[in-house]
Amino acid sequence: MSIAENLNKIKSKMPEHVTLVAISKTHPAEVVMEAYNAGQRVFGENKVQELVAKSEVMPKDIKWHLVGHLQTNKVKYVAPFVHLIHSVDSAKLLKEIDKQGRKNNRVIDCLLQVHIAEEETKFGLSVDELHSLLSDFFAAKYNNVRIVGLMGMATFTDNMQQVAKEFRGLSQTFKQVKEKYFSDDNQFKALSMGMSGDYEIAIAEGSTMVRVGSSIFGARNYGSN
Ligand SMILES: *Cc1c(COP(=O)(O)O)cnc(C)c1O
Repeated sequence: MSIAENLNKIKSKMPEHVTLVAISKTHPAEVVMEAYNAGQRVFGENKVQELVAKSEVMPKDIKWHLVGHLQTNKVKYVAPFVHLIHSVDSAKLLKEIDKQGRKNNRVIDCLLQVHIAEEETKFGLSVDELHSLLSDFFAAKYNNVRIVGLMGMATFTDNMQQVAKEFRGLSQTFKQVKEKYFSDDNQFKALSMGMSGDYEIAIAEGSTMVRVGSSIFGARNYGSN
């Protein structure tokens, strides 16, 4: 199937309120343009260098999302244009995003990444860490960074009940955080969960944003990605 056909098939399974982020990592701009030409305008990358490189050669009406880990010293490269950063997991990073947002005279939207999978990884916040980060965030009164939701990745497993359970847990956390910290405004509304293997489950559990790569562009050749 072509990229356009893959996109149509995925979209036909998605409710209107769910945003499809096409994860184009490892695929060259010419290939990613096939998705653009089929109408896709929201793309995501997991590495800063690749995100910057593609944003420079691809059309300017694309909304670029960063979905992978972001080091503090690289925020400056994405700050001028990034539409949404999915992977914020420290107070230090929020502070730097605010600083670079100010330099670029814009407000940068972010999601806080919550660790929901069974696998050990250094990325993502525990629920306790999430609450302390939110308290610090409100105390700091930043003007150039905005928290608009949460992101999580389920365990890499065939056990779909476990995946559903992890997504359900994140959905509950999302509702609690919204109620506790964002009840009087409408900014906190993105719940980014679901990838090629589990986006349908994620949507059933309340996802509003899915990050789909291989089901659109085909398998990636690089083992580490
Ligand atoms: C690569 C990646 C995806 C997309 O993965 P697929 O299984 O190819 O759909 C989603 N989210 C993140 C954070 C990724 O790095």
